[in-house]
Amino acid sequence: PVVKEPPKIHRLDESVVNRIAAGEVIQRPVSAVKELVENSLDADSTSINVVVKDGGLKLIQVSDDGHGIRYEDLPILCERHTTSKLSAFEDLQSIKSMGFRGEALASMTYVGHVTVTTITKGQLHGYRVTYRDGVMEHEPKACAAVKGTQIMIENLFYNMTARRKTLQNSADDYLKIVDLLSRFAIHHINVNFSCRKHGAARADVHSVATSSRLDAIRSVYGVSVARNLMKIEASDNDPSSSVFEMAGFISNSNYVAKKITMVLFINERLVECTALKRAIEVVYAATLPKASKPFIYMSIVLPPEHVDVNVHPTKREVSLLSQEVIIEKIQLEVESKLRNSNEARTFQEQM
Ligand code: ADP
Ligand code: MG
Repeated sequence: PVVKEPPKIHRLDESVVNRIAAGEVIQRPVSAVKELVENSLDADSTSINVVVKDGGLKLIQVSDDGHGIRYEDLPILCERHTTSKLSAFEDLQSIKSMGFRGEALASMTYVGHVTVTTITKGQLHGYRVTYRDGVMEHEPKACAAVKGTQIMIENLFYNMTARRKTLQNSADDYLKIVDLLSRFAIHHINVNFSCRKHGAARADVHSVATSSRLDAIRSVYGVSVARNLMKIEASDNDPSSSVFEMAGFISNSNYVAKKITMVLFINERLVECTALKRAIEVVYAATLPKASKPFIYMSIVLPPEHVDVNVHPTKREVSLLSQEVIIEKIQLEVESKLRNSNEARTFQEQM
C-alpha cells in the first residue's frame, strides 16, 4: 500500500483566525444589534435608537446617549480582547455589565465596515473613525456630535459569501431585530428604545421610559397582550437548596396565541432557558382547555456566583446552580396562578 506523506501543519494567519472567530460571535445581523445595544446599556444610556437597512446587511446603526468613548481609547477600541469592563478572571463572578469579552466590536470589523462617532462629557466636539480588521483606517476626525456614541456597521458579511447569500434569502432578520428590541424595551423600562427601517417614518418599536412594566408591555406588545396578563412572583432563600427571586407577568386563560413568547432575563441578561420554557409550556397545556400558547415575561435574580455567564460566546445561554429546584418552584407558582384564573373564568361563563 502507498503510504501518503502526512500533510504539513502550519500556523493560520491572524486575520484568518480573527475572521473565523468573528463569524461565531456575529452569527447574523441580529447578533450584531444585540451586542451594540448591550454596549449602549453598559454605557448607561437612557435612549437607544436603531436603524436597519436591508435586514441589517446594508446597514445597522445604533445611537445612544451614554458616556461615550475616550479619544485615547479609540486606537484600540476595535482590537480583539480590549475592554473597559473586566480586568481579572475573578471579576467574572460579580460582573454587572453585559459585555466583558472585548470581542464584539472587533468581530464586527472583521466581517463588516465599522464607523464610530462618539463624544464624551464636557467636550466641544466628537470624533469619527472607521475601522477594518481590528484597526483604525485613519486618525479620528473631529466632528459635530450630540451626547453619546453612534456605531454604524455597513456591508455585514461582505467577505463571507456563503453567509451573505443565506441571509439574503431570509426575509426575517429585520423581524428578529424588532423582536430583540421589544424584549429589551419591556425589561429596561427606564430607557427609550426605537427601531426602524432606514428611511421609514414610523418606528416599529417605540418605547418611552415609564415606571410601569405593564405600560411598557402594552406599548410594545399591544393592548390585547397587556390586558390578559397576571403578575407573578416567586422566591427561595435557602442556601441548601436554592436562592433566587423571580418577578414577572404571565398570560391568563383568556389570552390566545399560536406561539409562545418567552422573554427571560437572568441577572439582567437577556437569555434563553429551554428547560424553564418547556416546564411552563407543560403547565399551560395541562391547565388550559384550548391549546393556547402563553406570553411570559420573567426576570430572575440570583447570587452572581450561582450563574455562569461564560458558557457561550454569544452569552445566549447561561447555566444556573440548582436549576431544577428553581424551575420547579416557578412551575408551581405558574400553575397556581393559572388555575385561579381559569376557575374564575369558568365561573364567569357559568353565570
Ligand atoms: P465588551 O463589551 O465585552 O467590553 P466590546 O467589543 O463590545 O467589548 O466593546 C469594547 C469596549 O468599547 C467596551 O468595553 C466599552 O468600553 C467601549 N464601548 C463600546 N460600545 C460603547 C458605547 N456604545 N458607549 C460607550 N463605550 C462603548
Ligand atoms: Mg460589548
